[in-house]
Amino acid sequence: MPANVRVTVWNEFRHEIQHEAVRKLYPDGMHTVIADFLSAAGGFNVRTATLDEPEHGLSEEVLADTDVLTWWGHVAHGEVAEEVVDRVQERVLSGMGLIVLHSGHFAKIFGRLLGTTCSLHWREIAEKERLWNLEPSHPITEGIGEYIELPNAEMYGERFDVPAPEKLIFVSWFEGGEVFRSGCCWQRGHGRIFYFRPGHETYPIFYNEQVRKVICNAVRWAAPRMEASFPACAHIAKPIEDVPDRQIDFGKAGIEQD
Ligand code: ZN
Repeated sequence: MPANVRVTVWNEFRHEIQHEAVRKLYPDGMHTVIADFLSAAGGFNVRTATLDEPEHGLSEEVLADTDVLTWWGHVAHGEVAEEVVDRVQERVLSGMGLIVLHSGHFAKIFGRLLGTTCSLHWREIAEKERLWNLEPSHPITEGIGEYIELPNAEMYGERFDVPAPEKLIFVSWFEGGEVFRSGCCWQRGHGRIFYFRPGHETYPIFYNEQVRKVICNAVRWAAPRMEASFPACAHIAKPIEDVPDRQIDFGKAGIEQD
């Protein structure tokens, strides 16, 4: 049996404290709800981390013990310390998976890894969203079927300013007419990245069974396949074949001299 995937569920954890409507849905924070459904699914060793913990709960030790990090943030992206962003980036390049949820599109770490603004259009009128499954044979959509329907969602509309996904898994249609690339895969270094759009804090999105299944599948998919050191390739390479040390003097004009 393969070893359990070590998951760290990161949450900004501000809305749940500050807003009654969000607290009603997620009394102990959405990280707790996400951690609980991952634990219940089996195959994961789950811990949580939040912004207001020392080092945002993402110390060197925690990250070294993390195969996949999930990220939810919204109002406090600016409070995430650059030092922690550097640390997470380094781990992703070394092979740690990263699942960015909903408003995490503006997280520092997401922009850092993708290199674009990651901006988009939005509207909050509790409209219907249908996420079309474009890749039914992909591990992330296992057991999902043709589409996911969310009766009440915040709308995110194109253009989503990200590099073209290496694999586009879901496209959303919204009642108001917009479309959005809602499930996107990239790789940076050895690390797999998945952006998943659903997750607005005032709707019970993380209680939806299909949303939960996608997140479980995505965590499994993003788990590292190898242990890489960082930075990779930073050494003088010894030749594999026996190559004589050719001390050739090419001279000033680049022509071999006698
Ligand atoms: Zn939102």
